[in-house]
Amino acid sequence: MNRVVMKFGGSSVATTDKIRDVAQVILNRKKTCDQVVVVLSAMGKTTDNMIKMAEELSKNPSPRETDLLMSTGEMISASLMAIHFKSLGIDSVALTGFQAGIKSVGSHRKSKIDSIEPQRIVDELRAGKIVIVTGFQGINASGDITTLGRGGSDTSAVALAAVLGADCEIYTDVKGIYTVDPRVRKHAKKIDQLTYEETLEMANLGAKVIEPRSVAMAERFAVPLYIALNTGDVEGTYIRKEDDMEKNVITNISKKDNVLLTIVNESFGKESRITECLKNLADGDVNIDMISHARDKEGNQIISFTTDLASKALVEEILSTMEMDFEVVVNLSKVSLIGSAMRNQVGVAARAFGVLHDEKIEYYEVSTSEISISYLVDVDKENQLVNAFADEFNL
Ligand code: ASP
Ligand code: MG
Repeated sequence: MNRVVMKFGGSSVATTDKIRDVAQVILNRKKTCDQVVVVLSAMGKTTDNMIKMAEELSKNPSPRETDLLMSTGEMISASLMAIHFKSLGIDSVALTGFQAGIKSVGSHRKSKIDSIEPQRIVDELRAGKIVIVTGFQGINASGDITTLGRGGSDTSAVALAAVLGADCEIYTDVKGIYTVDPRVRKHAKKIDQLTYEETLEMANLGAKVIEPRSVAMAERFAVPLYIALNTGDVEGTYIRKEDDMEKNVITNISKKDNVLLTIVNESFGKESRITECLKNLADGDVNIDMISHARDKEGNQIISFTTDLASKALVEEILSTMEMDFEVVVNLSKVSLIGSAMRNQVGVAARAFGVLHDEKIEYYEVSTSEISISYLVDVDKENQLVNAFADEFNL
């Protein structure tokens, strides 16, 4: 007996016609797989529209009720899919997160899946039904519906695949994961297979094709992931453990816009408040990265770090309250080279820096991990750099 979890995003189920098309893809898959669980996102821009409505009525919408509201988006798509299947005479059942046994913990609007009690799903599968589960939601210990953070249906799908011992297939409106965003580079290549680690790095460094938490979860529970076009007829990208996959040094170039750079000067002699500053930012829930530190000959220190542009007001408020000497730079983006083979190769950094030099592109910050190098550049240089890197590394 084999089992699969198939997840479809909001754009794949945006209209009833699209729901019909997706139903066909599910039925085709059912021919080769005994038990199929489907996880759906809300139709099209439903979630965005709901948030907009809540904000029309309140400056600060109650998180509990916003979760209740948003959870209805997935209930609509899941119910419609089951209604359609039944109209075709196909046995199917739509389940909310609660009915599917998904228990959540943590704050509203960004809760996590704590556990899944899959008995109901298993029973329905055994009864021969296609089980359709609402993504993005669970129920917490107080009996309230919570949501898993934007894009959270990927996480629902992976978690279900983990407890059901199934493969997880994420269907979307692109043909898989590409070496470079095809909108920036026409001849970008589709990647056949990637490691979890590379995919996670890509998702964190800006690639929008899959939600990062779901990749981390897939790795933790060794759930095989597959990302493919929602028509089901084009070979997509497999994500699995690193075996002896043969590949290029660089597998992908990702980019992330709307990065804010904050530069803090601490003059020599004053007691350094850098630790306190980082702590206050953390207390304000500001996520920072690309931290760099320098000390000049006089002993003055310069610390800089990046955050999302959306945190600008908060960062400025925190640093102003501390009376720090700082400036912020906007209109930046982060361009990253990613590849796990980088780990065992010399000369990758030299080639990357060579590209920036030849292209005369200035960078503000550089950061590296074992499997990536990222540059912070002006947003108007972003595409030039992506293409130049793609040329250099043959992507
Ligand atoms: N509908 C939710 C959102 O738009 C969850 C998802 O699409 O995965 O964020
Ligand atoms: Mg969505």
